[in-house]
Amino acid sequence: MRPIRLLPSDDACNGWNALLPPRAARPALRGDVTADWVVVGAGFTGLAAARRLAELRPHDRIVVLEAQTVADGSSGRNSGFAIDLPHNITSSVEELALSHAYRRLARASIDHLRTLTTRHAIACDWTDSGKYHAAASAHGVATVLTPTRQELDRLEEPYQWLEGADLAARLGTGSFAAALYTPGTVLLNPAALVRGLADTLPDTVTLYEQSPVVQADLGSPVLLTTPQGSVRAPRMVLAVNGLAAQFGIFRNRLLPFSTYGSLTRPLTGAEYDALGRPAPWGLTPAHAFAGATLRLTNDRRLLVRQTVEYSPAFRRDAGHRATVAARHRAILARRFPMLPDITFDSTWSGMICVSQNGAPGFGAVAPHITAAVCHNGAGVTKGTIGGLLAADLACGQDNPLIADLISLGQPQKVPPRPFLDIGVRARFAWELWTARHEA
Ligand SMILES: Cc1cc2nc3c(=O)[nH]c(=O)nc-3n(C[C@H](O)[C@H](O)[C@H](O)COP(=O)(O)OP(=O)(O)OC[C@H]3O[C@@H](n4cnc5c(N)ncnc54)[C@H](O)[C@@H]3O)c2cc1C
Repeated sequence: MRPIRLLPSDDACNGWNALLPPRAARPALRGDVTADWVVVGAGFTGLAAARRLAELRPHDRIVVLEAQTVADGSSGRNSGFAIDLPHNITSSVEELALSHAYRRLARASIDHLRTLTTRHAIACDWTDSGKYHAAASAHGVATVLTPTRQELDRLEEPYQWLEGADLAARLGTGSFAAALYTPGTVLLNPAALVRGLADTLPDTVTLYEQSPVVQADLGSPVLLTTPQGSVRAPRMVLAVNGLAAQFGIFRNRLLPFSTYGSLTRPLTGAEYDALGRPAPWGLTPAHAFAGATLRLTNDRRLLVRQTVEYSPAFRRDAGHRATVAARHRAILARRFPMLPDITFDSTWSGMICVSQNGAPGFGAVAPHITAAVCHNGAGVTKGTIGGLLAADLACGQDNPLIADLISLGQPQKVPPRPFLDIGVRARFAWELWTARHEA
């Protein structure tokens, strides 16, 4: 029996959740149950896996165990970009080298989510807005946007190169040097989407919320223990993203980082006028760590996602949130000086999981256990398709996208701690320094 020592502990400040009506969580697991499948984690990945298992094995009983309540985890607290092209966590150019496979996976994921949101009328502010990949400095234009543009040309992807007054009119601010606009990204409220997906699971899936796995026997069958019950099942899908190593899976291969989001109150009519009344937009920064992800939402709020910190203990200091909120305010003051009175309704933290080589943690890790973890900061699409394909793989269902996902590689091994911590912090400090013009 392996004790699961680290459990998720997200703060209660998720601004997306705060915009939604209260939701009654599914009851926690009480007592001992058996099932044909157990899925651990009810984010985009686990929910996609459970739904697909139910489709492929309509007579099987599927149990999903979620430590928190749905939408409390990262799936409900991200920036809400369902991205169809590589998202540059380390370097968009490196990821673009695998772009054909990646693009097929991401677009299949968006199509899948589009079908579900339509079929189940999931109101999640789904908007086919595309996104701007923007640089604030000439350095960012030269080192990121120009090479990315060349890759887009090579891929024959449609895009618009925007700068000056054209870009300022689109964003309502002239504080960016240039941007590449690509049309395929969907913007949405992630908490509404993940809630909607959880609340429309097929009848053969039983979701237990507030049911953390605290002990795991990964023999065959697996036996997972929660504080008040247990699940025994011959097959398991692991979908806990950065916490997979707690289950002994992808150990010394996953790097946990925390990052932070803030949402303002809605802009007043006069403030919206001051921006020139642009259509809602989403922007990813040329440098994902140094820069800020920004959005103007459909209800005219501004989102800021910025500050990325190596967090090997999976813990974020609550007091630190106030410091980050002040940083987010400073970003708005820099980018939107015409909005001096804008205030935040919420600032929250969340975890992302990356691998050194940007590869996902996907595959059969034992004959009866399949994992889909490590989505390198783009889990709305990567997690959804990873979960769906984990179910296909586990059921022996032929799907050419499995080969695409496997072609992205496996997370590279990293040195043991404390050497890892020193290395990551040093590399990170260097990256922030070289990209300081994008801050
Ligand atoms: C602020 C922020 C902004 C982001 N912006 C974007 C974005 O715009 N677009 C994008 O694609 N991605 C974004 N991401 C990343 C994205 O949120 C993740 O990649 C995605 O949530 C991964 O989905 P998942 O289902 O694999 O993992 P998670 O969403 O982390 O779900 C895993 C679930 O497992 C549960 N769990 C963990 N351990 C246990 C246990 N022992 N027992 C039971 N349950 C357990 C957790 O509670 C959690 O709910 C962002 C992340 C953050 C924090």
